[in-house]
Amino acid sequence: MFESDATAIAQRSSTGVLPHRDRVGDLVDEAHARYADCDEGAVADYIPVLAEADASRFGLSLIGADGGSHDAGDVDVAFSIQSISKAFVFALVCEELGHDAVHDVVGVNNTGLPFNSVMAIELNGGSPMNSMVNAGAIATTALVPAANADERWARIRDGLSRFAGRPLMLDGEVYRSESFTNHRNQALGRLLQSYDRLAIGPDEAVDLYTRQCSLAVTARDLAVMGATLACGGLNPFTGERVVSAETSRDTLALLAACGMYERSGEWLFEIGLPAKSGVSGGIVAVAPGKGAVGTFSPPLDPAGNSVRGQRACAYLSRALGLNLFASSPDPARPDAHEGVSR
Ligand code: GLU
Repeated sequence: MFESDATAIAQRSSTGVLPHRDRVGDLVDEAHARYADCDEGAVADYIPVLAEADASRFGLSLIGADGGSHDAGDVDVAFSIQSISKAFVFALVCEELGHDAVHDVVGVNNTGLPFNSVMAIELNGGSPMNSMVNAGAIATTALVPAANADERWARIRDGLSRFAGRPLMLDGEVYRSESFTNHRNQALGRLLQSYDRLAIGPDEAVDLYTRQCSLAVTARDLAVMGATLACGGLNPFTGERVVSAETSRDTLALLAACGMYERSGEWLFEIGLPAKSGVSGGIVAVAPGKGAVGTFSPPLDPAGNSVRGQRACAYLSRALGLNLFASSPDPARPDAHEGVSR
């Protein structure tokens, strides 16, 4: 653990503002038009019901920190949130238990291996490694404080609903389809139990995790959920404080490191934003202090990231100047072009 003690030092959020609303709206439309005809990628089929997804669907929503919303395409089509739930359950647990507890119990380093890897656990002495892979997400869900399974589920569902600013509902068909076929996640649960890494029984932990993955959302919901993190935990639509600014910061750091499966490094290199994707085709990408993009398009690359969603986010990151690592000298400063004198 770094001893800078992040929580003790007051930190301001970063970063400038979005261009004028009209310009943002035009660029969202342009991003959608550019990639709507892209036919690369394949719809996930390891959860049977996901194989039935309509590959042509493509929704793109951007919500600014000021609450301004810009939509293009299928932004109201419902799909199961899948892995994107991991980001928000992590935030809820981090809020309840604190920065250090989640860091110590689950971890925050990328595995470099697929999201459902058994080997990652074995190679790391039983550690689930981070809350964005299945093992770490199951361990994180198990940490949600509650007296019983019903209460734990209610806290997860209500917590994610507060991020979205509306009540989120379980997609029963997805839940049943995944529950009948999630043998690998059940194996991960048992393996974690064998390493004494689960705060509750593996059956309950995996069932809750499967439920959270089955919550139905839209691309616009994802944009609102991401915008809440972009606004330091304050939902820009409802005005509700969902989590603290510190929890938002910690969640975004984890997304930057681990949010895009084993392609997280490439994503950060190309796009420069914390983000999370899911196998049903959603992506949420967050520009701290500025806003968030939510996308939905089912065809995925081999790592499990939506192809159209990635392209649209890359386009918007560049066109809107969202990349966290991009900077240029302030032209108003007299020494801006002279470099540092020695
Ligand atoms: N519920 C899915 C699983 O556990 C989520 C995977 C994902 O979206 O990455 O396999």
